[in-house]
Amino acid sequence: MWRYNFDRPDDVVSLQAYEGPTGVGLVPLSERRMYMYVTTPEPAGKRFEREGLAAAMRERLAKAPPRIAALAGDITDDAEVVYKPLEWLFVEGDWSKGRVVLIGDAVHATTPHLGQGAGMAIEDSLVLAEELAAAETPQAAFAAFEARRKDAAATSSSGRGRSARPS
Ligand SMILES: Cc1cc2nc3c(=O)[nH]c(=O)nc-3n(C[C@H](O)[C@H](O)[C@H](O)COP(=O)(O)OP(=O)(O)OC[C@H]3O[C@@H](n4cnc5c(N)ncnc54)[C@H](O)[C@@H]3O)c2cc1C
Repeated sequence: MWRYNFDRPDDVVSLQAYEGPTGVGLVPLSERRMYMYVTTPEPAGKRFEREGLAAAMRERLAKAPPRIAALAGDITDDAEVVYKPLEWLFVEGDWSKGRVVLIGDAVHATTPHLGQGAGMAIEDSLVLAEELAAAETPQAAFAAFEARRKDAAATSSSGRGRSARPS
């Protein structure tokens, strides 16, 4: 997954996605800024040196549609390119020990698709708050929280129903 920030043209007011072996999209961030993402097949766990990152990202856009190709020429600053392999994590074992419980990415980090990661973390916090308010002990709340959240988190983290499009 490659990302680069640009000034936002007026017509980019929602996600614009170009699907294919290389997935590309424009994502509005604010009144003035947007980012471009590019998903490319790379060897598992591949990391790149900082130097040359901008050229590497541009190379991967060589066959991009005209609008994207026009923007690609402005990808020039190695320090501004964010490249990260897509990874996920799911803790099968207990999510709590004693008076400590883990929520969010600490137990179920997803790939950055469909707003799942932040949404799941926020849902965890709401469910945990409900169970803490209702339970006699923290441990009872943690058990009830885990019972309510584990299946949903497993579905999300394993990518079932996942789109190739990040959010
Ligand atoms: C590149 C990228 C793009 C993403 N895009 C999206 C998106 O568009 N939509 C979406 O919903 N999700 C997205 N996600 C996923 C989302 O960011 C996470 O799922 C979400 O932030 C998880 O929230 P969290 O509170 O569990 O963990 P975090 O947000 O990681 O919060 C953990 C916090 O703990 C702090 N911390 C760590 N160790 C310690 C310590 N020892 N002491 C004190 N503090 C500590 C960290 O600094 C951090 O602030 C994206 C993730 C990445 C990496």
